[in-house]
Amino acid sequence: MTIVPPEALRPSGGGDHYRIFTPYLRAWTRAGRRQVLDAPEKVPFPGGPALGRPEISREPYGSTRRARRPYEFPRGGESAARRRMARWLEWCAEDYADGKDDLAGDRTSRLGPYLRLGCVSPLELESLAENGEFVRQLCWRDFYHQVTSAFPRIDRDDYRPRGTRWRDDDGAIRAWKEGLTGVPIVDAGMRHLLAEGWMPNRVRMITASFLVKRVFVDWRVGAGHFAELLLDGVVASNYGNWQWVAGTGNDTRPNRTLSPVRQARRFDPQGEYVRRYLPELAAVPAKAVHEPWRSAPVKGYPPPLVPFG
Ligand SMILES: Cc1cc2nc3c(=O)[nH]c(=O)nc-3n(C[C@H](O)[C@H](O)[C@H](O)COP(=O)(O)OP(=O)(O)OC[C@H]3O[C@@H](n4cnc5c(N)ncnc54)[C@H](O)[C@@H]3O)c2cc1C
Repeated sequence: MTIVPPEALRPSGGGDHYRIFTPYLRAWTRAGRRQVLDAPEKVPFPGGPALGRPEISREPYGSTRRARRPYEFPRGGESAARRRMARWLEWCAEDYADGKDDLAGDRTSRLGPYLRLGCVSPLELESLAENGEFVRQLCWRDFYHQVTSAFPRIDRDDYRPRGTRWRDDDGAIRAWKEGLTGVPIVDAGMRHLLAEGWMPNRVRMITASFLVKRVFVDWRVGAGHFAELLLDGVVASNYGNWQWVAGTGNDTRPNRTLSPVRQARRFDPQGEYVRRYLPELAAVPAKAVHEPWRSAPVKGYPPPLVPFG
């Protein structure tokens, strides 16, 4: 469910959906909203298979050896979601814009999984949120839903074909998935994903950009891996963002490549995030932690998968 229905807005210049975010944001901001409704008293289930309690593993997804500590997955259900939403709304009003890319600080709402499963209503969330930057993120969610509604093959075909020739490299793909590329910010993110089914937005961009723009592996491979592991994994936002990063989607600068080192220095200046997920780099000082290849080899940590100057 979205705030504004996917087919509700049409660009004035023609076309069945918005291809660029900024004009969509303008139209979306002006669009009317339906009323927030109370939850129904009862939801009738269709007949068929008996409903039981699913068996849920409490174990992290990946190798516990590499996880920083046994991780408590967020509690499911509407009550937990509403508690999280209330706490978040109280708190995010302050500094979401400054804090959302603070990798060590973990200062985003973490409402993604609840939005995915319909435990909170994005419409209600928007109606209560006072932080403009946060509301803008909710608009990104709607944006990708309207793109996907118009282009349902978003998880298979290039939205804007660019004729890129991707590399088949099983070893590189395995290293990326396991967090063993030798590039600390990429590895920390990928191990974070394995351990907790989550990763901050900034690290999703860095790890995705690394795979498609530096290792030249097909975006479908990376997006499929994210889709398998993300607690908030949904087709529209996952594949929409992957195609944005790969330059085949809605980015107006399709050749953009993120430098993992520059990004890491900027958003994890003390190397706290990286060290949290890469225990083998625990003793490396902040100055060197994002570029360990510049000093003596670190025992138990691989050299970088692709050359770094
Ligand atoms: C490669 C890649 C893959 C991604 N895959 C997913 C996915 O499968 N599911 C998903 O919900 N988001 C995805 N995102 C977007 C974003 O990373 C997550 O929504 C966000 O990190 C979730 O954390 P949060 O709930 O704390 O977000 P907050 O920062 O608190 O934002 C609030 C909500 O806004 C929405 N939102 C924020 N940023 C985006 C965005 N760029 N695109 C779409 N919606 C956004 C989400 O619903 C999010 O829960 C992806 C981003 C990238 C770069």
